[in-house]
Amino acid sequence: MERIHDIYRPVDERKHDFKEVERRLTLEDIKPQLKRCQNCGVPFCHGAGCPLGNLVPDENRAMSKGDVRRAYELLSVHSDFPEFTSRICPALCESCCVRDLDEEPVMIRQSEKLIIDTAFERGWVVPEPPEKENGKRAAVIGAGPAGLSAARTLRRKGWAVTVYEKDADIGGLLRYGIPYFKLDKALITRRRKLLEAEGIRFVTGTNIGVDVSADYLSRVFDAVVVAIGTPAARDLKIPGRDLKGVHLALEFLGGQNRYLGGELAAPPISAEGKRVLVIGGGDTGSDCVGTSIRQGCKSVTQIEIMPKPPETRSPSTPWPDWPYLLRTSSSHKEGCERRWSLNSLRFLGRKSVTGVEVETVDWEFSPLGKPLKFAARPDSKEVIAADLVLLAMGFTGVPTDHPIVRQLGLAQTPRTALLSKPESNIFCVGDCASGASLVVRALASGRNLPL
Ligand SMILES: Cc1cc2nc3c(=O)[nH]c(=O)nc-3n(C[C@H](O)[C@H](O)[C@H](O)COP(=O)(O)OP(=O)(O)OC[C@H]3O[C@@H](n4cnc5c(N)ncnc54)[C@H](O)[C@@H]3O)c2cc1C
Ligand code: SF4
Repeated sequence: MERIHDIYRPVDERKHDFKEVERRLTLEDIKPQLKRCQNCGVPFCHGAGCPLGNLVPDENRAMSKGDVRRAYELLSVHSDFPEFTSRICPALCESCCVRDLDEEPVMIRQSEKLIIDTAFERGWVVPEPPEKENGKRAAVIGAGPAGLSAARTLRRKGWAVTVYEKDADIGGLLRYGIPYFKLDKALITRRRKLLEAEGIRFVTGTNIGVDVSADYLSRVFDAVVVAIGTPAARDLKIPGRDLKGVHLALEFLGGQNRYLGGELAAPPISAEGKRVLVIGGGDTGSDCVGTSIRQGCKSVTQIEIMPKPPETRSPSTPWPDWPYLLRTSSSHKEGCERRWSLNSLRFLGRKSVTGVEVETVDWEFSPLGKPLKFAARPDSKEVIAADLVLLAMGFTGVPTDHPIVRQLGLAQTPRTALLSKPESNIFCVGDCASGASLVVRALASGRNLPL
């Protein structure tokens, strides 16, 4: 039996709104899919795939029998916020599903979505305050997935937890980065109410290190959890960077989300009627594509310096590794030109950007097909016309002069990830401790707090 590939609303419908792109599958759709799960003796999905260690084969078995309640109980053992992961997780579990060896992986993420959506609809998700207080107080800095996960873990153990967040609301990149069409922000608000009912206190609009010093927090709380994400986006400092119309991806995506959330009267950067060029071929770039299309752009092109990945799993990433292969998102399917092996040389224009000069690069590969290094191809320069350029090239970690780093005396790795100071009860979790990664890894890191 094949997987269900048609999991999205029709393109002509979805590209005109910011509602979630995925359609809802029913239990009848999912049940036969989960019967494909072999209940492996060594379930890689659970052990090597899911960073949370979700009990995937057991959940699959319950769902294949139609026992959603049991599946929800099993899912809740390791997962605090399945309503988020079931929508935006790249499903590391599926990439190492044994069924991927002979046909296609089991639809684990879709099943997770049906479980948690049903659980909310039937009123099974209720606040779970601790049975008793332990008399200790913890401050969590940052209300992204890592901070929320750490806060819930500590609260369960009886800590009195206060979460400080510099933004107007909680969620971090879940709220101010990832577009609404991938994750409806009402789900974060619903979860906030549950966390508050469990006794977690949120102090938003408070920039720790500036409004309140981090060392003050470490003096008055028994433990401090730093979960500030990776604040610095990678820029492209080539000639013309100061031209009007060249923006970091998060300025664009965050602005659109703040507008949809009612914090702004209009999106601060609009793609309407423009030729958009997205530089960076990853997920953030793909989110820029989908947002540009919904804002009514004239055209959108996404370019990447890396070569075009293979259509199927590259031998350089054999099963059960996370596969190096071409990924086509729902946004790409909505109408976007994608090009690879292009290096950006300069932004063109007088006051506003009118295009980007690029050149083709030729890649050298390892015997197994891993791209190693590139060289510019002679006489390959060309101009891609654009009125709006969005830079989606990842993040560079935590700046070494960040006030929290200084005030708490935190050490950093050569790649500027923050190191915990267990001797002072200061713990760093999520992207700030690992480098920019994934929601599910941030959640796992908050959950595995050694406290
Ligand atoms: C556009 C985009 C799309 C993405 N899409 C996906 C996806 O589809 N799937 C996926 O798995 N991952 C995705 N990611 C990655 C994912 O969002 C991150 O890995 C994850 O959010 C990291 O969680 P975190 O809690 O460590 O950091 P963040 O989510 O960055 O949260 C950090 C929080 O700390 C707050 N903060 C920072 N400094 C302070 C301070 N001084 N005082 C108080 N608060 C502070 C910030 O305001 C923020 O709320 C995406 C990332 C981006 C940028
Ligand atoms: S959280 Fe992600 S990796 Fe874990 S079971 Fe769900 S979809 Fe798979």
